[in-house]
Amino acid sequence: MGKNLNDIRADFPILDQQVNDEPLVYLDNAATTQKPKAVVEALTHYYYNDNANVHRGVHTLAERATEKFEAAREKVRAFINARSTKEVLFTRGTTTSLNWIAASYGEANITAGDEIVISYMEHHSNLVPWQQLAIRKQATLKYIKMNADGTLDMADAQQQITDKTKIVAIAQVSNVLGVVNPIKELAKIAHQHGAVMVADGAQSLPNMPVDVQDLDCDFLAFSGHKMLGPTGIGGLYAKETLLNEMPPIEFGGEMIDFVNLFDSSWSQLPWKFEAGTPDISGAIGLGAAIDYLNQFGMAAVHEHEQKLVDYVLPKLLAIDGLTVYGPHDPAKHTGVIAFNLDGLHPHDLATGLDMEGVAVRAGHHCAQPLMKYLQVPATARASFYIYNTKADADRLVDAIVATKEFFK
Ligand code: PLP
Repeated sequence: MGKNLNDIRADFPILDQQVNDEPLVYLDNAATTQKPKAVVEALTHYYYNDNANVHRGVHTLAERATEKFEAAREKVRAFINARSTKEVLFTRGTTTSLNWIAASYGEANITAGDEIVISYMEHHSNLVPWQQLAIRKQATLKYIKMNADGTLDMADAQQQITDKTKIVAIAQVSNVLGVVNPIKELAKIAHQHGAVMVADGAQSLPNMPVDVQDLDCDFLAFSGHKMLGPTGIGGLYAKETLLNEMPPIEFGGEMIDFVNLFDSSWSQLPWKFEAGTPDISGAIGLGAAIDYLNQFGMAAVHEHEQKLVDYVLPKLLAIDGLTVYGPHDPAKHTGVIAFNLDGLHPHDLATGLDMEGVAVRAGHHCAQPLMKYLQVPATARASFYIYNTKADADRLVDAIVATKEFFK
């Protein structure tokens, strides 16, 4: 673990600015993270020196671009400990990855009467694709309940997952409650019933070590922009045996082997699923983001966030009228904390915090069924990341108190 996490703010020039005459405190990392210089420089270096299309040309630039693009795939593979780069597909992000699973695996394997099991805390991206698949196939969508502290009710999971279940799809970390869900245990239950396990890794890959072999999940979806990478690039991990059987979703260049007038055959994995020119610079930028995170190691990243949550949670809970949703135990958390202040709409709270230079998100966080479950229209949400400090946590607490006073 080379670099010290307490000394990295200079790598993120965007953080060094005033917002409403106050130094910016960026706490909207669950929406998207800021980019270190190393990632931005990887993008410019690629465009200034290596830009060419991949897998096509024999000229030097084409070979260099292809090499860098495939090296980025290897970085993703190592980061999640997939067995082979055949199991790592580049996509636009988590949403695309989850839709691909539904469109390919789901279309081919779900029939009337089958069950798909998700939870009440899913992001719309891990809910609507399954809901629509269930409607198309006359399958049943089932929801696992939550315990009072926002953790997944594993006794209910045992009830909901049955021999009729074909797909279990759960977020490894909730984007609202910050709670870490037991994917490994869920995968075991799913497999006992012959179902596949889909893990939504949008909020876990950026914040904690993720090992797909250890989890034994069948699919894992993630977004580069939530882990210091560029927008527009992400990935889908899937077991090779499944990818071999799954039909491609998009057709065209790059994904073919031979094209005849009336039939075609597909390229090998992973290219069978990657039709058209991919986001080459995005993948290279994602590779640079992974290199950046690897300087610290994901265990250190997780520990850093837990220390911040450990520090800030008691201070938040001590504010009169403030409700914190999700577990109050930092051990069950990543750096995401959702809260509301009595008598104040979360949008007003977030606007008040912005006046103090503190950027948080307010709204339903693309989790309307969860808002309904919590019986709130919306929440404010602060999400900490590697460049946040205890001073940032203090600024959040002070800004909430100041906003409360302002609206009194
Ligand atoms: N799943 C979770 C848990 C998320 O937090 C998000 C984004 O906020 C997504 C899925 C969708 O990610 P993207 O918009 O990058 O596709």
